Amino acid sequence: MNQPIIKICDTTFSYDQKPVLHSISMDVQPGEFVGVIGPNGSGKSTILKLLGGVLSAGPGNLLFKGVDYLNQNRKHLARSITWVPQEHSMAFPFKVSEIVLMGRHPYLSAFTFEGEEDIEIAHSAMERTQTLQFAQRGFNEISGGEKQRVVIAGAIAQEPEVMILDEPTSALDIKYQIQILNILKQLNENKNMTVVLAMHDLHLASKFCRRLVLLNEGEVFQDGAPEEVLQKDHIEKVYDIRIHLVRNQDGSVMISPDTLCIQ
Ligand code: ADP
Ligand code: MG
Repeated sequence: MNQPIIKICDTTFSYDQKPVLHSISMDVQPGEFVGVIGPNGSGKSTILKLLGGVLSAGPGNLLFKGVDYLNQNRKHLARSITWVPQEHSMAFPFKVSEIVLMGRHPYLSAFTFEGEEDIEIAHSAMERTQTLQFAQRGFNEISGGEKQRVVIAGAIAQEPEVMILDEPTSALDIKYQIQILNILKQLNENKNMTVVLAMHDLHLASKFCRRLVLLNEGEVFQDGAPEEVLQKDHIEKVYDIRIHLVRNQDGSVMISPDTLCIQ
C-alpha cells in the first residue's frame, strides 16, 4: 500500500463541549474516489471540513502525505487540497468569471495578477462545467445549481491533488448531477485526482464511488466497497427506516423507502 495522501488518526472533534466526531480514523489513498454518506447530523460536513483544512484537528490527528496539516506550508496545502462547501454566499458582487479565476490564487504570489495560462485554465474549467454562458453575470444573480457549477469550475481551475466536496450534487438537476460526477470521475481517472465527497443519493454514490464511508452519530459505521457498505440492514439501522433495496448488475443499488413502515 502507498502512503495515504490523507490520514485521520483517532480523532475526536467538538465544536463546543459535546463531541460530534468520536475516534474517527480514516486513510485516503492517492487516486481514491470516496463517498461519505450518512444521515443528517452524522458528521459528514465536519469530517470534510477537517480534511479540507477548514477546521483544525489537534496535533498529530490529521496528516497530508505523512506531515501534520499544522506543519504544512499554507499555500502548498491550499494548492494541493480544495474544499467545495455545500452553501455558497458571496458578500461582494463578484462576477462568475472572477470566482472561477480565484481558483488560481494559491498559484500567485503577492501583488501578481493572473497570467494568460491562469485565464486559459479557468476558461477550460468553465467550458467543462457549462458555465461560460454566464461568465459575465454577477455570482449572486445566478441560480443555486448554477452557483454550484461555478464553484466547482473554480475548484477544477485550482488543479488540486485532492478535491473535497460537500454534497456537490444536491442543488443540481439530474443532468448536471451526472455531468458533475462524470467530470470528477474523469479528473480522478485521467489526472489521478483524489476525490472525497459527501452525498445523500445512495444510488449515485453506489454508481460513482469506489469506496463508501457510512457515518452514524459521528462514528464510522461501515467503510468499504459500495456493495459491502450498502446492505439493507446497515441502511435500515443507520437511517432508522425500512427500505427495499435492489442491486443492479453493475453493483449499484436502488433504494426506496418502505413508506408503510415509517413512523
Ligand atoms: P452532516 O453534514 O452529516 O449533516 P454535520 O457535520 O454538519 O453533519 O454536523 C454534525 C453535528 O455537529 C450535528 O450535531 C451538528 O448540529 C453539529 N454542528 C455542525 N456545525 C456546528 C457548529 N458550527 N457549531 C456547533 N455544532 C455544529
Ligand atoms: Mg452536511
